[in-house]
Amino acid sequence: MTFDGMWAELLPVGRDPQTGGYRRFAWTRTDHDLREWFAAEASSRGLDLTVDRAGNQWAWWGDPDAQGPGLVLGSHLDSVPDGGAYDGPLGVVTALATVEALQRQGFRPSRPIGVVNFVDEEGARFGIACAGSRIITGVLDADRARGLRDGDGRTLAEAMTTAGRDPRALGRDEETLRRVGTFVELHVEQGRGLADLDRAVAVGSTIWPHGRWRLDLAGEANHAGTTRLEDRHDPMLSLAAAITAARDAASGQGCVATVGKVRVEPNGVNAIPSHVTAWLDARGPAERGVRAVVEEVAERAGVRPVEESWTGPTPFDPALAARLAALLGDAPVLATGAGHDAGILASAGVPTAMLFVRNPTGVSHSPAEHAEHADCLAGVEALTAVARELAS
Ligand SMILES: [Zn+2]
Repeated sequence: MTFDGMWAELLPVGRDPQTGGYRRFAWTRTDHDLREWFAAEASSRGLDLTVDRAGNQWAWWGDPDAQGPGLVLGSHLDSVPDGGAYDGPLGVVTALATVEALQRQGFRPSRPIGVVNFVDEEGARFGIACAGSRIITGVLDADRARGLRDGDGRTLAEAMTTAGRDPRALGRDEETLRRVGTFVELHVEQGRGLADLDRAVAVGSTIWPHGRWRLDLAGEANHAGTTRLEDRHDPMLSLAAAITAARDAASGQGCVATVGKVRVEPNGVNAIPSHVTAWLDARGPAERGVRAVVEEVAERAGVRPVEESWTGPTPFDPALAARLAALLGDAPVLATGAGHDAGILASAGVPTAMLFVRNPTGVSHSPAEHAEHADCLAGVEALTAVARELAS
């Protein structure tokens, strides 16, 4: 089945009729349907399906144990809440279409070619992004993973058991990693870099350093009607200072910063809050700039930010990126502020590259996420050229 056929089949799966957005969360019924779909597509191309210790699906053309390590293409099929159609599935569908194109051309790969569907990339249900790749590389501890809870209090272990998988298997997976000689993830661009350059496909250079900080802002609860302004200790004002400081500093440093999650106590319309907890997400091309943003927030809001996570810059294999950019007609080489399974594998030492497909508006993680049909096909063409190059 061609790109169009696969795309049409996936379109209705997990789509919310109200918003048009996707709700494809790990180890749910929808996820099960997507996994069955992937297995069927693999089988129809004569690929051998294996499932690793974390539940990631690998479809192999050729035997990666006998003739490997292989070249792996692919991405993920899950989504954020009310996500778009392209983030993830575009990489899986173009990978399957690439294998089909190569088979139809009578191409004989010099090493096995695999297509991967990584499980739980978005972390929408259990809160940890790239859980599937983090587990098999050992970055996410198996015990911790098993105990992660979703919004209904169900653990990952329980969810996997319900889905028919054994959570005791979770852990670093040497056998799977050994099979992956090179990984190439194609992804819809999550910005307007390509639209501005008037190009359809880019090669990834690096994932920006990024982190999350918790801001604990203490105040004093009191009556909203009877407390004079000068007598108030209102933590919401500190939050306002933190948000504007984050914006100003990010703009000055060429970074991005977001306060997207806030918890207010007691959260009443007519009560001055006693406490506000907010989370700052900051990313940028260099660690120094990101740190400077966090420092300015700390200073202007009078708060000591608690670092909850930090990931340094993740460069993709620079020689591989240069080789693919040349192969694809001097394709632009772009950095990204978004995390990907490709970043986890690159950090684990796997030679890794990313291809980005133009997103005309740059909007992502939203039902409005889009890529033109011609650009999707340009993605298949680019990935096919890459596979020929790396498996000849
Ligand atoms: Zn993605």
